[in-house]
Amino acid sequence: MKNDFNFCPHCGGKGIRNVNMRCWQCADCGFVLYHNVAASVAVIVQDNSGAILFEVRAKEPKRGMLCLPGGFVEPKESLENACVRECVEEIGVKPLNLKYMGTFPNTYEYNGILYNTCDAFFIATVPDNAVFDIQKGEVIQIQHHIIKNGDDVDKLPIAFDSARCALKVFVNKK
Ligand SMILES: [Zn+2]
Repeated sequence: MKNDFNFCPHCGGKGIRNVNMRCWQCADCGFVLYHNVAASVAVIVQDNSGAILFEVRAKEPKRGMLCLPGGFVEPKESLENACVRECVEEIGVKPLNLKYMGTFPNTYEYNGILYNTCDAFFIATVPDNAVFDIQKGEVIQIQHHIIKNGDDVDKLPIAFDSARCALKVFVNKK
């Protein structure tokens, strides 16, 4: 992992030290850097038949595995707006009846850096006549899977543990 620094990003000196999982401090110039938990969203989109929409990931990490529409929250953006934006970007459809479900922590490795995230899960539907337009480069294809219980969740190659946990809570609540 590249989560550590050899040189202070501010003074260029070698005084930078990791204080805890999310804080670095430079003994030379006093520079402090926080690598805080990142907020991200994911949407459990259900169609009329009760099937849940999954994306086959086109990108690392976890290329070829299944994930839910979603992503990192942008600066000055609400979780709800992030859900709508990510669905429109990734599947070309605006989610309806967006309802908050819960949060689960996750780790996300990108380009050698490990990010700690807090993933907020929402439940939504899409219009009956929705025409999906997938974001090439991010999504290989859309799949729909009926999930009735935790065993069904475990049978699917789901990319992230947070989504696996959320889907198990979701099926148990139904
Ligand atoms: Zn420094």
